[in-house]
Amino acid sequence: MIRTTTPFETWQETPVPGELRLIPIGGLGEFGMNALVVHTAESLLLVDCGQLFPSDDQPGIDSIVPDFAYLEPFADRIDAVLLTHGHEDHLGALPYFLERWPVPVYGTAFTLGLLEGKLREFEIKAKGLLHVVSDFERIPIGSGEIEAEWIPVTHSIPDSCAIALHTSQGVIVHTGDFKLDASPVDGRLTGIARLKALGEAGVAMLLSDSTNVTRQGSAPSEAVCRGGLRDAFRKTPGKLVVATFSSNIHRLQTLLNLAYEEGRKVCLVGRSMERNITIARELKKLRMPDDLFIDCREAPLFKPKQILVLCTGTQGEALSGLSRMLRGEVKGLKIAEGDRLLLSSRAIPGNEVAISRLLDNAERQGAETTLEDLGPIHASGHGYREDSAEMIKMLQPRFMVPVHGTYRNLKIHGRLAESLGWPQERVLLLDGGECLQVYEDGTAKIAGSVPVGKCFVDQGVSHMVDARVIHDRLIMQEDGIVVATLLVDPATGELVSEPAILSRGFVVLSDDEAYGDLLRGAVRKAYEEAPTEIRSNKELLVELLRQALRRVIRKTTETRPMVVPMVLESQDPSFRE
Ligand SMILES: [Zn+2]
Repeated sequence: MIRTTTPFETWQETPVPGELRLIPIGGLGEFGMNALVVHTAESLLLVDCGQLFPSDDQPGIDSIVPDFAYLEPFADRIDAVLLTHGHEDHLGALPYFLERWPVPVYGTAFTLGLLEGKLREFEIKAKGLLHVVSDFERIPIGSGEIEAEWIPVTHSIPDSCAIALHTSQGVIVHTGDFKLDASPVDGRLTGIARLKALGEAGVAMLLSDSTNVTRQGSAPSEAVCRGGLRDAFRKTPGKLVVATFSSNIHRLQTLLNLAYEEGRKVCLVGRSMERNITIARELKKLRMPDDLFIDCREAPLFKPKQILVLCTGTQGEALSGLSRMLRGEVKGLKIAEGDRLLLSSRAIPGNEVAISRLLDNAERQGAETTLEDLGPIHASGHGYREDSAEMIKMLQPRFMVPVHGTYRNLKIHGRLAESLGWPQERVLLLDGGECLQVYEDGTAKIAGSVPVGKCFVDQGVSHMVDARVIHDRLIMQEDGIVVATLLVDPATGELVSEPAILSRGFVVLSDDEAYGDLLRGAVRKAYEEAPTEIRSNKELLVELLRQALRRVIRKTTETRPMVVPMVLESQDPSFRE
């Protein structure tokens, strides 16, 4: 395996003729935020433009998107964004991207159907920008120097594709997310014959999904879920409530088929569930009789065993359909004895506590949540180790680049290629931001890294927030905040009154007057002893007061709250009241 970490000094210069750059600006060394820059002297495009969901240590953040710093110097040269499929970690950053750079976006029908709905929510006009492509279609992008071909792959969302880029440096295949499912629910198979044909003709570079490369064997087909779910339909005397990812249209198709066969009407709970089902029906990706659905308020007119509830909220999200239902906020649907709740999904790491709380809540209300008497009710959308091996063997690439996953997964994927006979120098281990240069003579090398990073979106603030904001939020969350206000007479420089101290999330000062006195005394002393040159420089003075207060707090409490000193002059209008 070849890798390097030196900076790529000349990244701001346009690639020289004959040079092609591949730069993952997200999605390597992490799960999510997948985005790959493809750059030549004539073309500049992006494969996918995904977002990352925030974790607990990013309070108040709704989304994390890639920093597009690399694209800035070339902003007027961006040709297009090509999408492999419609998952958020592949297209979720597009509203922010298109707002800045409205360039054409190419993708299959369902992918663009989801994107269109998303852009509408963000009030971004996409008219004329979205271009639907068909399976196996090959189209010139931008100047036409690069042609892109969409090859169907099976995954947990309809219309997923690998993208083959036909370039003067050879064919570059990006698998997107895939598994090799021989019996997909919609009958749309991976384009194996086409992938093999590309492999035989010669593939310069393969960038392949590493998500499940740590799991042995081959991924089970989506078809296996039918047995387990059917058991649930038959073994549940009351309402059957199933939460699943609303974009997993294949899983929903299986559930709707079973509802029809087993005589249950279907209630939908959750906005994205309703929206995705509507889009899928319009695009004929989901088929069922019209009268299968009923409004939740009609549910009490049927026997509980005649009801299937499909809802969002597999990760225990507080505002999701499932959580609302468990709180009794969905009219017509109340959990009762005999009902069963199933999470037909995987727990995303970090959400275990919320999920366990949710199941506990359902059990408390009388629902069954165990799975012991059922067959499998979930199958991953990502291939396992054997599927990854199969992909490498089909495409026989000159160079293999593992993508999508933690650094560990990328490394394991690289080792897999080596075990299949790929020599070390042909397995390229890239990290986020590292630039791979590919040349027409068939050589490739890692040129070093370009500036990359994460941008944090707080929809409440309606724009990106700086990483320092998150840092401040974490301090306040952990140890609270202390604000000290000093009122100074500008003529004499003396304090007009005793400093005022206010705190939140720290010691309740009104309950502990002596401690309040200690803090007030410390800040007063620091002010009075401050040399004149510091007193006359507000910035230095505030810093001095901050340090004095911090010192006394640390000594007395072992905590580090945020400390905010404010020095105000007494004629300040806010103090006249
Ligand atoms: Zn995916």
